[in-house]
Amino acid sequence: MDPQWAAPPAVDTCLVSSDASRGRRGGTLIDERVLELAVHEAMLKDPDAYRPAECRCGCRRLHVHDRRERRARGAGLVVTVMVFLCAQCRASWRVLPAFLARCLWRTWEVVEAALSGDERPLVPARTVQRWQARLAQPARAATQALATSGDATLRAVAQRVGLDGTRGALAAAYAEATGGASLLAPLAALLHRLSSGLRLM
Ligand SMILES: [Zn+2]
Repeated sequence: MDPQWAAPPAVDTCLVSSDASRGRRGGTLIDERVLELAVHEAMLKDPDAYRPAECRCGCRRLHVHDRRERRARGAGLVVTVMVFLCAQCRASWRVLPAFLARCLWRTWEVVEAALSGDERPLVPARTVQRWQARLAQPARAATQALATSGDATLRAVAQRVGLDGTRGALAAAYAEATGGASLLAPLAALLHRLSSGLRLM
């Protein structure tokens, strides 16, 4: 059974809470450079490539702790994810490539294809409906994160969308402003960094 289906309706609070606010030490980082599988595979060959520069505690000594396998449904893909341990506070950080949709169990490519209806990836219809519903929700926390990021381009995107704009509108405005090939992946990774775990959808 899809664990997402088993989640209670309150799952949407997950969209606005963060690793830090849940008081967790360590957590998930997303490497925004890695939008393609080929880049990910090249980086796995270099132990330093995925290593975070710094732990939340300020320590800069992070050691490779583990390699975990993450299955991406619909893409027939098993992705190796690097896990690092902080030498000082022992927090563990797993670093996801940006092409993986955190919490959705799929690559963003599959998510976007399912949402656009262009292709027929193996995504159950009600999962697609749930994703559509999320994109139709107001993007308030995400828009605020862009508005207060200190970056003029991001602030302009936030102003265009406005506080009542939806997540989908925000994604479209961001993709248009940045010229990215992917609609959701870069913004999802950016939000995760700007607002410590904030989810686009
Ligand atoms: Zn630490």
